[in-house]
Amino acid sequence: MSQQESFTLRTDKSFRDSLSSVDEAGNRIFFHPKKPKGRYYNWRKILSYFLLFLLFTGPFMRLNGHPFMLFNIIERKFILFGVAFWPQDFKLLALGFITLVVFIVLFTAVFGRLFCGWVCPQTIFMEMLFRRIEYWIDGDWSEQKKLVSAPWNADKIRKRSLKFIIFAAISFLIANTFLAYIIGSDALIDIITSPVSEHVGGFISIIIFTTIFFFVYWSFREQACTIVCPYGRLQGVLLDKNSINVAYDFLRGEPRGKHSRNRDEKLGDCIDCNQCVVVCPTGIDIRNGTQLECVNCTACIDACDEVMDKVNKPRGLIRYASYTGIVTKVRKIFTTRVKAYSVVLLVLVSLFTYFLTTRTETQTSLLRARGTLYTQVGENQLRNVFMVKTINKSFDQKEVSFRLKQPAGTIEQIGTGFVIPPQGYREGGLFITLDRNQLTGVKTNIIVEVVHGDEVLETIRTSFYGPAQ
Ligand code: SF4
Ligand code: SF4
Repeated sequence: MSQQESFTLRTDKSFRDSLSSVDEAGNRIFFHPKKPKGRYYNWRKILSYFLLFLLFTGPFMRLNGHPFMLFNIIERKFILFGVAFWPQDFKLLALGFITLVVFIVLFTAVFGRLFCGWVCPQTIFMEMLFRRIEYWIDGDWSEQKKLVSAPWNADKIRKRSLKFIIFAAISFLIANTFLAYIIGSDALIDIITSPVSEHVGGFISIIIFTTIFFFVYWSFREQACTIVCPYGRLQGVLLDKNSINVAYDFLRGEPRGKHSRNRDEKLGDCIDCNQCVVVCPTGIDIRNGTQLECVNCTACIDACDEVMDKVNKPRGLIRYASYTGIVTKVRKIFTTRVKAYSVVLLVLVSLFTYFLTTRTETQTSLLRARGTLYTQVGENQLRNVFMVKTINKSFDQKEVSFRLKQPAGTIEQIGTGFVIPPQGYREGGLFITLDRNQLTGVKTNIIVEVVHGDEVLETIRTSFYGPAQ
């Protein structure tokens, strides 16, 4: 087969019309991929141990006695790397989210689905935890297939029961960890150590999460990536010919075929051994080109490298490469699209960093009391009444006071002390009094400082109302 003929083969895109995990009758094809081995798999194992450690210990980590990570969507409280964020930080969180999305788009445009194969919790749990337990209990792919068609004898019942118990136990552990990220580790420990009747909602949540995780890893598996994951579905628009992916070097590999002394034909390096296919957890043939189902797990790279070693050919017939890189043999990363994304990303990161570093520990709203304009005080002074609300975003109690910075005048707090508990808020009232000669019209701009000790926490600009001049 000539290279042109093989290219014609590759341009037959009929394989893209159906999911690899569904047969023509619409039934699920349950994959039993061959156990991967090789250098990429070893590196991924090391990284996955580290990430699993971080994931399971994350909700229990403390910084100065406070959670390191918390995503309490129920009470709208978020702690990232020990810093507490409130719903009032919505602008910052929204900007952070947009920055993250642009980063993902840029990263994907350059490096394809590197995240899916190396960092995504779904891949790590499935391929590095549950799948490995399955290999340990059921054996490699051929033994697994035999076990599926075997009658329910003592050995099959023992293996299935053991797998069920271990999968359920790990799903329970993941569900608890997941819940700890949402409600905090203290609340989780409270649920676990209290009678069920005291935390019915908490126990139901744990059971629901456990069931979902169990279902995903016992049965649903790679379909989470190929059918459900929005990031996977977006690959078609995020990737281009310059994106680096796990790719088959068709120029080197084609025409593929079993090498034999009797064949005169000049063959490529692919010996059509199918090892890259049987090892694939999503059941695709990477030789067809980049596909939606490929999670860049690198298993086919390792499998092919092993074959290349055996046939004394250089490794890398399947490797990280872009389509352009394979065709031109030049690796070009900084395309016009990547440069444009980089500029946008740089602007967003700068804005986000600015807002993050100038973020205050308190957030105060100062509004004139409803239904009031001004009152006369003595001959020459006017007074406005303001309602003040200060949120303390920090983990420390704050006693704050208010200072009129501009123009000259007085500010009096209604009631005594303005002590705000950690992560709490306090409301009160303020009298602001100005001399008539300080007024610049019906509305006079004033600047109020929120002070904690000697530290100015916030500077607020508002208006003071007076009579028409
Ligand atoms: S493992 Fe390598 S040699 Fe074997 S079929 Fe796949 S690409 Fe070809
Ligand atoms: S094609 Fe290769 S990298 Fe992609 S999912 Fe299959 S084995 Fe993993």
